[in-house]
Amino acid sequence: MGGEKLLAGALLLMTSSLPAAELSVESVERHPTVRRAAESFVREADWILQQQIRLTSIPAPPFREEERARYLEEQFHLLGLENVRRDAIGNVLGERPGRDAEHLVLLSAHMDTVFAAETEIEVRREGDRWVGPGIADNGAGLAALLALIRALDESGLRTGATLLFVANVGEEGEGDLRGMRALFAEPALRRRVRAAIALDGSNVERLTTKALGSKRFQVTVRGPGGHSWSDFGLPNPIQVLARAIARITAVALPAQPRSVVNIGEIHGGTSVNAIPYEAWMKVDIRSEMESENERLEQALRSALADAVAEENAWARTKGVPLTVEVKTIGHRPTGKLPAAARIIDVFRAVDTHLGIQTSIQRSSTDANIPISFGIEAVAVGGGGRSGASHSLREWYDPTGRELGLKRILLALALLAGVEE
Ligand SMILES: [Zn+2]
Repeated sequence: MGGEKLLAGALLLMTSSLPAAELSVESVERHPTVRRAAESFVREADWILQQQIRLTSIPAPPFREEERARYLEEQFHLLGLENVRRDAIGNVLGERPGRDAEHLVLLSAHMDTVFAAETEIEVRREGDRWVGPGIADNGAGLAALLALIRALDESGLRTGATLLFVANVGEEGEGDLRGMRALFAEPALRRRVRAAIALDGSNVERLTTKALGSKRFQVTVRGPGGHSWSDFGLPNPIQVLARAIARITAVALPAQPRSVVNIGEIHGGTSVNAIPYEAWMKVDIRSEMESENERLEQALRSALADAVAEENAWARTKGVPLTVEVKTIGHRPTGKLPAAARIIDVFRAVDTHLGIQTSIQRSSTDANIPISFGIEAVAVGGGGRSGASHSLREWYDPTGRELGLKRILLALALLAGVEE
């Protein structure tokens, strides 16, 4: 298989001890085109920052990423990618062909933010920091994506595997990883992906190799509703939710595997002196283990059934129907890379070489999807520093960004192979 030759560098890592692996990183780093690419991160630091500010200023609320997608599509063209296109769900794709057209290494960054359309986005400077909603998550990831594409273009670096760049939709919240899900739903494409790196936020030490799974539900309870005095005794949907919440929060949660249940939103009723005809809540269940997510989902469903029975027993007007609708609004698969995964070896070797203290993390990211298909994938930060993520005070400091970018470049070169 051609794959063996082109991944020679990475295979060397797999079969040799750490010092040899480090040598291999060194040989990649010494390659003239890789060196030229790394130099571009320093030379183009201002261009990278300007791209980040520009991208952050284009609103990309959940399910409305089109404007940002259009801008990125244009940049993909300008930076010399081939076969630039937008897929049906709204992901922007572009390729940099390697010697091997069949095998792909995927580099992606999500476009969506958690901020609603009406959020005012103004990026401003405060000393070394740039402040604005989404500046780091995922302004930093998108800027890293463009920085890498530009560096590869300018350096003439030629890889073994073909590089696929994707700016994807739907990573945050109820986006439910729909961009990545749609990409990997294509069996023809999925089979070609050898490794995937999701660029998210800034943290240079982060290496997310474990996918935190979750199940999310919207529970709606409906009844006839009525007057608080004259109809008193009718079953009350808010009371049903209250009874269910009391039950579900009494369920024991194991510390190992770490599992949580969160009631994130609750709404219902129309007036203080009316029995509500409807009430709903949103529930987030997360666990390090899929079976625990399922157990907690069952616990939620039986808590609801018990709550309805209890409410009906309490009601003075008997036989009045109450309906409970449980709608799944999110399901992110759990999973983790095997300890011997090559992509972990590659990042560890690069980090050792660059003096970065690798911090292995479990989190819910775009990498969940390839990992759930058994494809080697990680999520990493794009470099620099940041804080107050998902808030209006979100900030980013580009100091040291070139180290984060070099880390990704070296890992990419090792995973895809570098042609002489
Ligand atoms: Zn993110």
